[in-house]
Amino acid sequence: MIIHCTATPAGRKVTSDDIRRWHLIGRGWKQVGYTDMIHLDGTVENLVKHDENDIIEPWEITNGVAGENSISRSIVYVGGLCPDGANPMDTRTQDQLAALETYVLNCIKKHPEIMVAGHNQFAAKACPSFDVPTWLESINVDKKNIYLPKGYKRKLFPALASEPASEKKDGEPDSMEVASLMTEKDKEEES
Ligand SMILES: [Zn+2]
Repeated sequence: MIIHCTATPAGRKVTSDDIRRWHLIGRGWKQVGYTDMIHLDGTVENLVKHDENDIIEPWEITNGVAGENSISRSIVYVGGLCPDGANPMDTRTQDQLAALETYVLNCIKKHPEIMVAGHNQFAAKACPSFDVPTWLESINVDKKNIYLPKGYKRKLFPALASEPASEKKDGEPDSMEVASLMTEKDKEEES
């Protein structure tokens, strides 16, 4: 399984029709790049039908990663860029984190021999804007299911601070205050 992001700014919704337009019309592909997509609210939407055996049949193939498509399933979460769209960022919402974890763990349960990887482990790309092996370890995925070639260099990405203000604990500084303090500090360092 290979994980992708849509490479769209944090918080921007993307529909399955957007994906179809980008891939089928924009790139002229015969099939989209992903089997399933995980929306900002954690909803999982199926784009390309698949069965649950261990073989990727021709009708299940997506254009996820050149050279890997006949032996892998590609899935995508909506996001992957910082709010202004300029740089890669791990923008997974709490709902997406939970949905992705459930998705991956279910798939491993059904197919105990699969390995899970990020697109950036096969191509010089940021996609999916987080280090997949590190995340898999953090949710206690078994080593044998983590694609981790020898000499693999872990990739660091900034993460979006996505905790809503309503979840802030008493006594914690207001997030606005923190932001303005940081800005002041940054200004000092610049001058
Ligand atoms: Zn990708």
